[in-house]
Amino acid sequence: MSGGRAKGMTMTTDTSGVEQLRTSIKGRLLAPGDTEYDEARRVWNGMIDKRPRLIIQAAATSDVAPTIAFARATGLPLAIRSGGHNVAGNGTVDDGILLDMGRLNTVEVDAEARLVHVGAGATLGDIDRATEPHALAVPVGVVSGTGIAGLTLGGGVGWLTRPYGLTIDNLVAAEVVLANGEQVGASDTENADLFWGLRGGGGNFGVVTSFTFRAYPLNPDVFAGTLIYERPRWGEALRSYVEWAGDAPDEVTTLVTFMVPPADWELGDRPLMFLGFAWAGAERDAGEAEIARLRAGCEPDVPVVDPTRWITFQSGFDAAMPKGVRAYWRNASFDRLDDAMIEAIVEHCGAQSFGTAADLHHMGGAFGRVPEDATAFPNRAAAFWLNIYGFWADADDDAARVGWVKGFSDAMQPHAMAGQYVNFLGQEDANAHGKALAAYGKAKLDRLTDVKRRYDPENLFRINHNIPPAI
Ligand SMILES: Cc1cc2nc3c(=O)[nH]c(=O)nc-3n(C[C@H](O)[C@H](O)[C@H](O)COP(=O)(O)OP(=O)(O)OC[C@H]3O[C@@H](n4cnc5c(N)ncnc54)[C@H](O)[C@@H]3O)c2cc1C
Repeated sequence: MSGGRAKGMTMTTDTSGVEQLRTSIKGRLLAPGDTEYDEARRVWNGMIDKRPRLIIQAAATSDVAPTIAFARATGLPLAIRSGGHNVAGNGTVDDGILLDMGRLNTVEVDAEARLVHVGAGATLGDIDRATEPHALAVPVGVVSGTGIAGLTLGGGVGWLTRPYGLTIDNLVAAEVVLANGEQVGASDTENADLFWGLRGGGGNFGVVTSFTFRAYPLNPDVFAGTLIYERPRWGEALRSYVEWAGDAPDEVTTLVTFMVPPADWELGDRPLMFLGFAWAGAERDAGEAEIARLRAGCEPDVPVVDPTRWITFQSGFDAAMPKGVRAYWRNASFDRLDDAMIEAIVEHCGAQSFGTAADLHHMGGAFGRVPEDATAFPNRAAAFWLNIYGFWADADDDAARVGWVKGFSDAMQPHAMAGQYVNFLGQEDANAHGKALAAYGKAKLDRLTDVKRRYDPENLFRINHNIPPAI
């Protein structure tokens, strides 16, 4: 295969080098001026508008090493993209080389061993569609178009986090192409230092071509739903939720979203609190009893607990956040939610308009039982995470939407713990170099730096929340 304009690309890069690359790979090359270039360079966040000099759409894992060699030979910056959902826009680059792994999206389920082998380009939806027929699920995130690669390398939080931990906690092995072009495995028994760094350290160490995950039994007719609260009852609802969460069993994961639904929704055009839950236990009765206990503390204004297929529930947020929306995100983690914090949440979330939202994740459970030094991921002690974000269409709204996210985030900082989730850092935070590094804390950063020095001493993989080989 070759790109829309197979020959004679008008690049300042050495043309013979490009032609050599073209003949050594199975995938396509696209450059500015090619018919499909503009679509190929787009990422999920509409605020990111970068123009790579060359886009390589890999069609085989063997395309990765020649692309790396080409990037090293030209000295051009190299960005890696899988799902393209990185909020900070790290899945692309201006005037450099973009290696797009999106076509390597096979998913193979070994139902007997409960292992799932996933190409780096798969989306979360690809994985759910492959595992659901086996009544199995891999713990991933909550929007189906998100790429498994970026999500896993940062952590991976979703509706199965409390019973089974983050996505990285269920990573068994990965295949990685290093900066020197060598393909290596990473697991507890093979390149264990690399395996440690991959679980939270992002794309800093190489190009991951595939992952193997543990999967768990999950009834596809999942017991899940949403309890909706009108604004005047948020304070009462949150206080009773926090009390309930203190003794909630691991099988239940909850996620509280504050947003103004689209105006054409039946409930649209005013800020609402959506308390979503998913029950992963084998006994539905036990789940119903648990949710009855949650509701008894503060009966919702609208309960939506219809029969739900797992795949449907896993794509419930998709429509609100299509590719191309403008986005700015910030996050923080907390060891508690006290009255002052609840008051701040109610005040800021009550003052939003359509196009912003905040998600409060209840952590703990299996997530919290993973020893702090088992992975590069920071802060297992967090009881709650808050992700504050926007998803709006019009550039004229940038200042207002970004301003709301920043104002709310700043108000929560005095209550926050150290450590942030790199996958929820926005573009400004990514550029503010120190912030990405601060997300890990000193001890982890020192260890990550050692791994970086060993596997990518020249910092070829730097279009990410970068861990430089020398600080
Ligand atoms: C709408 C939306 C919903 C989200 N929901 C969740 C959620 O529920 N839970 C959660 O945990 N996160 C969630 N996220 C955050 C998400 O995890 C990150 O944005 C993540 O970076 C997306 O991965 P990607 O592969 O799609 O991104 P990309 O933009 O393709 O890549 C992101 C970065 O990851 C690295 N990378 C990508 N592929 C590779 C590879 N093959 N090898 C090495 N490095 C690679 C690169 O450094 C790249 O810069 C969500 C994001 C969005 C936009």
